[in-house]
Amino acid sequence: MDPSSGVTAEELFRSGQGITYDDIILLPGYISFALDDVSLQTKLTAEIELKRPVISSPMDTVTESEMAIYMALLGGIGFIHYNNTIDEQVAHVRKAKRFENGFIMDPVVLSPDHRIRDVDRIKEKYGFSGVPITENGRLGGRLVGIVTRTDIDFESDRNLYVRDVMTSDVVTAPEGITLAEGNEILKESKKGKLPVVDNDGCLVSLMSRTDLRKNRDFPLSSKNPSKQLMVGATVGTRESDRERLVALEEAGVDVVIFDSAQGYSSFQTDIIKWTKKKFPALQMIGGNVATKEQAKGLIQAGVHGLRVGMGSGSICITQETVAVGRSQGSAVYDCARMAHDCGIPVLADGGVRSIGDIAKAIAIGASGVMMGSMLAGTDEAPGDYFYEGGIRLKRYRGMASREAMAMGGGKRYLNENDPLKVAQGVSGSVVDKGSIVDYVPYLMQGVKHTMQDMGCRNISEMHKRLYNGDLRFELRSPSAQREGGVHSLHSFSEPHRLPRSN
Ligand code: GDP
Ligand code: 5GP
Repeated sequence: MDPSSGVTAEELFRSGQGITYDDIILLPGYISFALDDVSLQTKLTAEIELKRPVISSPMDTVTESEMAIYMALLGGIGFIHYNNTIDEQVAHVRKAKRFENGFIMDPVVLSPDHRIRDVDRIKEKYGFSGVPITENGRLGGRLVGIVTRTDIDFESDRNLYVRDVMTSDVVTAPEGITLAEGNEILKESKKGKLPVVDNDGCLVSLMSRTDLRKNRDFPLSSKNPSKQLMVGATVGTRESDRERLVALEEAGVDVVIFDSAQGYSSFQTDIIKWTKKKFPALQMIGGNVATKEQAKGLIQAGVHGLRVGMGSGSICITQETVAVGRSQGSAVYDCARMAHDCGIPVLADGGVRSIGDIAKAIAIGASGVMMGSMLAGTDEAPGDYFYEGGIRLKRYRGMASREAMAMGGGKRYLNENDPLKVAQGVSGSVVDKGSIVDYVPYLMQGVKHTMQDMGCRNISEMHKRLYNGDLRFELRSPSAQREGGVHSLHSFSEPHRLPRSN
């Protein structure tokens, strides 16, 4: 390439001005390979590899077990938030670790002595009414029947015993069947639920017809050597968080994030050192950081990965309220540059709004992107959809919003005994994006196009060329940014979400 085209990243970020995704455009390279040849394999930490560079943010409107499970199935990873009790957080981790694709490992079970109103309660609380019935009313008990909607829909007496309405002639599958075999039985039997039983007829798990669409193979899934899905969790940096950390480690968590808004502190370096001693094999991500000095400090303390971003999140008002932070592009480049030499991967956290932003974050040195608003409107995020002005939405809130702080959130932004809590986040809503099972592959396909256009087959090649000056960039003027967006149209529709495939 003509060396005079554009500038290197080093030149781009040297000005001292805050630069972020919108300010940058990536210049094309030479394409000599097919899109399918592009690999997005990356590193989350020094030791953990992911097939896709996507990470869901530890926020109470983004990542609980469902999100963590599907992020891992899709080749990324999710971090369970800690705006909950230790037991609740551990339960999410255990659920993700126990997950077997297509099989509900902890189905809600009743006994024949329960009544229809107990099924109604389950329907109200969890949203489903297909309940396997075992002798003792527990998973592992002998299966004696199943109650489904059709058994009870038109029954006016809700006090009737389950034994009098349940279907006793149940189609079951033997323990150990494969996903494909289970799917086949579900399709052929035309039943909604398929209980899986062991040799003694005792209930082991359940399959649901509703999940057929999701019961596909996930060849890129992030698994540990014992073939369990990988899951991350977040803890604070206080003395009391050590108890939480011990419980998470016991539950099998693969990687932890130490969560502070300004991560370069004695609290964080202390807990990093403590953890390293207590659990030498546990991978730790430190943060958040925005400068190379902070990054260096946490690397020296012993982290295996860094979370970069201060004040760039969509729900964040930190830069307005405390005026400390940094433009995300400059933060990512600076920290990644420093961490690269130490073999420590960097996550670009916050401010990602599009495929282009993901691609830019990686092009300036991030090994992965952590997303909140991009994922909060998906089926897998906690919370229910609701309608406003005819648009289907989900709630999304900052962990330091008033609302989240009222429930114990925002620990990362507060001092221990703060008498006055200054909100550093807002609450709002995001548009329905459907399931991440469709959405994440769509995002990743877009990033592959970027890589191909730039002539990079994989992320490590991209980073090599970033640092040797091969990758070229240009700073976009305000009018260049306007030109790069949609313009000159009377109206247009935004590709907020893909059409639902179910
Ligand atoms: P139902 O017909 O009323 O049972 O509900 P659906 O089959 O339409 O939806 C059940 C959804 O809940 C599926 O996606 C299941 O995977 C999920 N699910 C999670 N846990 C359970 C459980 O313990 N029992 C049942 N029946 N479904 C569960
Ligand atoms: P988003 O992807 O929505 O742009 O940003 C998500 C990121 O914003 C999170 O991963 C976290 O780093 C940050 N964040 C979450 N809640 C808050 C908050 O209340 N205040 C601030 N300043 N940042 C937040």
